[in-house]
Amino acid sequence: STPILELSNLKKHFPVRDALGRKRGAVHAVDGVDLSIRAGEVLAVVGESGCGKSTLGRLMLGLIEPDAGEVRFRGEALGSLSARALRARRRDMQLIFQDPYASLDPRMTVEQAVAEPLILHRTVPRADIPTRVAGLLERVGLRPELAGRWPHEFSGGQRQRVAIARALASGPALVIGDEPVSALDVSVQAQVINLLQGLIRELGLTFVLISHDLAVVRHVADRVAVMYLGRIVEAGPAAEVFSNPRHPYTRALLAAVPGQGRPAAPLAGDMPSPIDPPPGCRFHTRCPHAVDRCRAETPLLPAALHAAACHLQDSLPPAIPPAEADPG
Ligand code: SF4
Ligand code: MG
Repeated sequence: STPILELSNLKKHFPVRDALGRKRGAVHAVDGVDLSIRAGEVLAVVGESGCGKSTLGRLMLGLIEPDAGEVRFRGEALGSLSARALRARRRDMQLIFQDPYASLDPRMTVEQAVAEPLILHRTVPRADIPTRVAGLLERVGLRPELAGRWPHEFSGGQRQRVAIARALASGPALVIGDEPVSALDVSVQAQVINLLQGLIRELGLTFVLISHDLAVVRHVADRVAVMYLGRIVEAGPAAEVFSNPRHPYTRALLAAVPGQGRPAAPLAGDMPSPIDPPPGCRFHTRCPHAVDRCRAETPLLPAALHAAACHLQDSLPPAIPPAEADPG
C-alpha cells in the first residue's frame, strides 16, 4: 500500500549567530532523513533530547520548511502546496504537544478549545458544535459537563485529554505526539497512553510517537526509528528492534533501562553538539566498537525492513536481549 507520509533526504539546519548577529555555524537538527510511514501504523521516533526528533515531527506536518528534501503526504509534496492548501491539509494532520499547560489557551474554556478546530475547518454546522464537543470529551474520558470549565481548573492529565480531544476534532488521519506524556506523573502516563492506544485502534489513526522513553515506546509502537544527531541510525519492527538491536547506540539506549535483575548501564559520554557534528559515524565518539573507518566514512541506513547504519553491524557481538534477565 502507498505510504501516508514519505520523507526523502530531509534536512533542516538552524543557523547559530553570535552576539553581533554573525553566523557562527548551524545546528544540524535533521540531517538527511528518509522515512516512509504506512497508513494505520504506530511509528515511534526515539532518541535523546536534542537529537532532532521534535524538528522532524514539525517537518512531517509542514509546520516548518525543510532546507532540503521533501515531505509527501498521501503522495502530494507539502512544499508544492500553497499556504491555503497546506492549511486545508492541517485538518488531516495534527500535533499533540508535550506540555498541556502551554498548548491550551488559558483564556479559552474547554468547549472553546475543542470547538476551535471544528470552526476553523468547518467540519460540522455551527449548531452541531456543542454536541460534537460533548462527544469528543466523552471519547477522551472527560464528562461533557466540564465543557464550560477553564484549563487551570484541570489536572495535567485532564488537560492532556483536552489537548487530545482538540487534536481529534478535525478528524485527522495522521497524529503526531511529541512526548505526549513526558510532562505527566508516571501514574497518569499509563492512563493517557492507554487512552491514546484505544483511540488509535478505534479511529484507525496513523500515529507518530516522538519519545525519549523506551518504556512508553515498547508499549505502543509497531515500528521504531532510532535517531541520533539528526539521523536515523536504526529502524525496524518494534519487536525486532527491542529483541535484536543492531546499532550500538540502540543497544546502549536499551542497556540504560534497568531490566529484570539487571542494573541500568547508563550511556557513557554526552551527545556531541549538533553544531558541526562529528564526521563519519556520528556515534563514534561514544561507541565502544569504533574503528578508524567509523571516524572517516558515514554509514548509510540500508533499505531493509530492519536496518541499522553501522559499518560493523555484521561483526558485532550479539546483543544481550534486555528482556532476558539474569536469574541471579
Ligand atoms: Fe560504532 Fe562504527 Fe558502527 Fe558507528 S559505524 S556505531 S562508530 S561501530
Ligand atoms: Mg523535543
